Amino acid sequence: MMAQYLALKAAAEDCLLFYRMGDFFELFFDDAKTASACLDIALTARGEHDGQPIPMCGVPAHSAEGYLARLIKAGHRVAIADQTESPAEAKKRAGSKALVGRAIVRVVTAGTLTEEALLDSRAANWLVAVASAGQGADRRIGIAAADISTGRFEIAGLIPSALDAELARLDAAEIVVPEDFEEPPAGAVAWPREHFESVRGEERLKRLLGVATLDGFGAFTRAELAAVGALIAYLERAGQGSLPFLQPPRRRVVADHMMIDAATRESLEITLSQAGVRKGSLLDAVDRTVTGAGARLLGADLSAPLTDVAAIEARLDLVALFEGDGALRDRLRSALRALPDIGRALGRLVARRGSPRDLGQLRDGLDQARLLHELLGRAAPMPTLLADLLPQLVGHDELVDLLRRALVATPPIDAAQGGYIAEGYDPALDALRGQGGEGRKAIAALEARYRAETGIPSLKIKHNGVLGYHIEVQAKHADPLMTADSGFTHRQTLAGVVRFNAPDLHEQAMRVGQSGEHALAAEAAHLEELMAAALGRTGEIAATADAIARLDVAAALAERAAEGGWTRPHFEPHSCFDVIGGRHPVVEAAVAAQGARFVANDCRLSEQERLWLVTGPNMGGKSTFLRQNAAIAILAQAGSPVPATSARLGIVDRLFSRVGASDNLARGRSTFMVEMVETAAILAQATERSFVILDEVGRGTSTYDGLAIAWAVVEAVHDINRCRCLFATHYHELTRLAERLDALSLHHVRAREWKGELVLLHELADGPADRSYGIAVAKLAGLSPPVLARARDVLKKLEAGRAATGGLAAGLDDLPLFAAAAQVEQAAPDPLRHEIETIDVDSLSPREALDILYRLKSLA
Ligand code: ADP
Repeated sequence: MMAQYLALKAAAEDCLLFYRMGDFFELFFDDAKTASACLDIALTARGEHDGQPIPMCGVPAHSAEGYLARLIKAGHRVAIADQTESPAEAKKRAGSKALVGRAIVRVVTAGTLTEEALLDSRAANWLVAVASAGQGADRRIGIAAADISTGRFEIAGLIPSALDAELARLDAAEIVVPEDFEEPPAGAVAWPREHFESVRGEERLKRLLGVATLDGFGAFTRAELAAVGALIAYLERAGQGSLPFLQPPRRRVVADHMMIDAATRESLEITLSQAGVRKGSLLDAVDRTVTGAGARLLGADLSAPLTDVAAIEARLDLVALFEGDGALRDRLRSALRALPDIGRALGRLVARRGSPRDLGQLRDGLDQARLLHELLGRAAPMPTLLADLLPQLVGHDELVDLLRRALVATPPIDAAQGGYIAEGYDPALDALRGQGGEGRKAIAALEARYRAETGIPSLKIKHNGVLGYHIEVQAKHADPLMTADSGFTHRQTLAGVVRFNAPDLHEQAMRVGQSGEHALAAEAAHLEELMAAALGRTGEIAATADAIARLDVAAALAERAAEGGWTRPHFEPHSCFDVIGGRHPVVEAAVAAQGARFVANDCRLSEQERLWLVTGPNMGGKSTFLRQNAAIAILAQAGSPVPATSARLGIVDRLFSRVGASDNLARGRSTFMVEMVETAAILAQATERSFVILDEVGRGTSTYDGLAIAWAVVEAVHDINRCRCLFATHYHELTRLAERLDALSLHHVRAREWKGELVLLHELADGPADRSYGIAVAKLAGLSPPVLARARDVLKKLEAGRAATGGLAAGLDDLPLFAAAAQVEQAAPDPLRHEIETIDVDSLSPREALDILYRLKSLA
């Protein structure tokens, strides 16, 4: 057995091996240690290997799914080695000592799940393969992504710098890269290079699609083919040869979408909040979908807003239909609420892990899709997107009819017990069931007869897996039945009860058993036929599922707009960003929950006034203002109404958001470095059509450095990138830039001191803030009166000093920024200088001199 185990373990590579033994999956050696720690189950030992006891742990096979889920969540991958024959078959094949045959039947990884229980119904589950081809400036990245729970399949080619944004959009459950991949994404599975060959990739893709040439899909790059090849190979390995259902691949042209990199997604909390959960995200604040597929599509839409105005308008037209007709919207939404997730049911069927219940879900879902068609078919005027979707909702009558006749109303998940094929579908099956029923009736009658014959009123006929049907009496009544002529055969004595068999019972039990077995076999055969019938229509069913999701999203956005008084955005050919009365949906909800009112603010960027510098006290609402406008850009281009009274927008090609380092402190990164790396990325990538929000950039370092960096960044954004930009800062000195940069204008969030208290109005006004109110904010935060008084004294002194020297930004107007730098040097004690001053040159030996040189070098 160990030899068999070790061979399977070698084939499982770096996956944990679940080794089936009877009713358990067992793990051995290091796998056992890992799993027992992760699952918090007992670690035992069994037998010896190389003179050492073998560590072992196990999980019951019937509840393995829950354990699998926990292992996968913890980042493990699991190969499942099941028994390929029963012990009886093994004996027949190779004698009494035979080892039961086992094989790896499946590899379970985070990206290859289809089990309903292991998946989040509201999120997509992407497996992504990444490959690269070419060198230096010619290096190109290929991405192939599959969500096998729904069959979605995407291929994209990118330049290396766009990889992060693309992976961030997909938010993959699992990423596979070649083992020698440059800068692999965090957590990626490194796989041997041989799987990433473009030529084999092309062959695999052709085989998958059943085509002789890929020309119909456009020209794939070598990197894309390499990625596709690896993706297919990985899926083949997961299914041990059988491939899950994949729709024809969608070739994503990355330029078709607003590019949003990972840092921006994180800071805008598009689909996940900073805490890493859905709650508190923009998606969560917008989402009013009523189906899992709709929620997944809305998440995908917000993750990849469009840049093609016609496509955006098509989505908005559909939303407008449901906004205009509330009754239609309500009827659609209540119909959708009752719909099963046919996309995922189909995914399981194609992966050969489907159940009778999945077929039942297809039946119900497809039938209701037809009703949706009736409900929406009369819309006038008919939005073009709806006209495209309607035909995808119908055409399943034959399949639905078959499933309706064949299946019971609510088929079970587990096929093993039977009972899912409806009465009347197959007369032979009905007859078998009839025989079984009669047998059971006869057995019930036997119980009464045996009671009368023996005079034991508590005698019972019972059934269990080991003995089958048997007669049970309490021990005190058992003696008379033990005699040879009693007509009963003793089977088992337990504490308190004794069990018997009898010829009549045996005969009836055989009848029940045989008809039951035959009925099960007949049902299983029907199940196969029904599955084949459904699988014959995978493409059409997937199209229906997609159409339903799109309708759900449109109706949900209409619902959200009606609820919040949102408005349809209008798109302009030039780079403007003109929002009146804009709000932030997440902050608005939070503010409302505290019984306060959210203050709407305008944002009026144009080609002449591209850059707004926003100053004002902490907690005054600067971040919120910046983020609400980024959110409006995302929503608008995703085809959603926006939280504003009006919005006229020029399309945004790339969106960037950066938040000054100290806001990220809690997240334990080398913050200033990160801030600068991210800022550099913006300056390198933002175009005239981009939209950038910069919140307190430069804050992560000393005042002078920070001011200098913020200053230089504003200038670069203004002069070189020429993008639309909102820049929030507490450096008042920056307001002087308005004199030099003509497309920059000054704004501030208003605050007032009233009877010694600071009142934050959260209202944007033109011009710079008059002062920073820092001490007033500190008071709001609960700093004690003596500390506040002391701070006021210090501030007075500093301000007096500033007046005398011309202030922090003295000299910035003529811009030798180095003046500021020189001051920094004087201010901070310099360790290098100190070290040099303490050297007594004359007393040094050559050896000591060398040591000192090393020390100085390390300080430099
Ligand atoms: P800043 O970036 O200026 O420090 P924030 O944008 O973080 O300020 O806002 C601080 C708090 O003020 C928010 O958490 C919210 O409670 C409140 N706030 C912000 N903007 C508004 C607004 N427009 N209307 C009402 N309350 C707001």
